[in-house]
Amino acid sequence: MNRIQAFALAGFLAFPLAAQAQPAPGDLNMHWSEGAADCKAHPQPPLQVHRYNATTYILRENLCSTFEAPFMYLLIGQTRALLIDTGDVGDPKAMPLAKTVMGLLPRGLPLLVVHTHRHMDHRAGDPQFARLPNARVVGYDIASVKRFYNFAQWPEGLAHLDLGGRVVDVFPTPGHNETEVSFYDRNTGLFFSGDFLMPGRLLIDDARADIASAHRAVAFLKDKPVSAVLGGHIEMNAHGGLEPWESRYHPDERALPMTKVDLLALPAALESFNGFYSESGGFTMINPLRILKAFGLGVLIVIVGGLWLLVRFVRRRRRRAAA
Ligand SMILES: [Zn+2]
Repeated sequence: MNRIQAFALAGFLAFPLAAQAQPAPGDLNMHWSEGAADCKAHPQPPLQVHRYNATTYILRENLCSTFEAPFMYLLIGQTRALLIDTGDVGDPKAMPLAKTVMGLLPRGLPLLVVHTHRHMDHRAGDPQFARLPNARVVGYDIASVKRFYNFAQWPEGLAHLDLGGRVVDVFPTPGHNETEVSFYDRNTGLFFSGDFLMPGRLLIDDARADIASAHRAVAFLKDKPVSAVLGGHIEMNAHGGLEPWESRYHPDERALPMTKVDLLALPAALESFNGFYSESGGFTMINPLRILKAFGLGVLIVIVGGLWLLVRFVRRRRRRAAA
């Protein structure tokens, strides 16, 4: 084989791989409602839908319906569809999630409902789907998650959800919460990272688990195409600052998509986390439980110290009075 032949053969062999690795394109140019400073005076539609492409939808609950304004993701395959998370509002009259999702699906297509993690703002809509004949809702507790994905060596392991001509990889990413998993859609190259990685406060329950999760995510994705990293919320403004906590008004909100570069930078940022509150490389990391405990300890010290001073003061006065 001469050089040109070898080159041609290499190109021929590489072509199908390259063609396969090319993710299906989609529209990341999203426009979300900014909520309102006074939601009563400015009523808003509760649920917004962004069409990424014909088989991929990004849904978001309005800031005026819940300050969490969580994102949900609908991936449609040939034999079933997958909904990742069900949001923060249960009442179907206030939040017509199931109705909207079923309206986006081809008639009769079964729906599998899963969660990034068990926090209420990611699963409050579950009961809306539990009543539907074509939908199956996976439990959110750790035992159900391990059982459904067959994660015998949690937090190790990799599961595959076959939607029919579309495979979604799932792997454990605990740290924010012990039940957290993340999803990689091979079809679009989108990585759905829940609250493990999002443009906002990274609330960390277990820092060691979170670091290990970040390393696993990097190892899994470093050689794969990642069109975007899509998390559970947006809590940052366009200038890199944080939106006020529990604010229902985001007039200058940052865009939702994060990048592979952000993901690759996550392990180092997490390793610099001081265990309470740290800002590093554009990430804000917080351990709310520890801060609460430290605050509780502070309050206790103030109370005990105050009592000690009071007892000393009373004793001194008594001694003086006796003298
Ligand atoms: Zn959460």
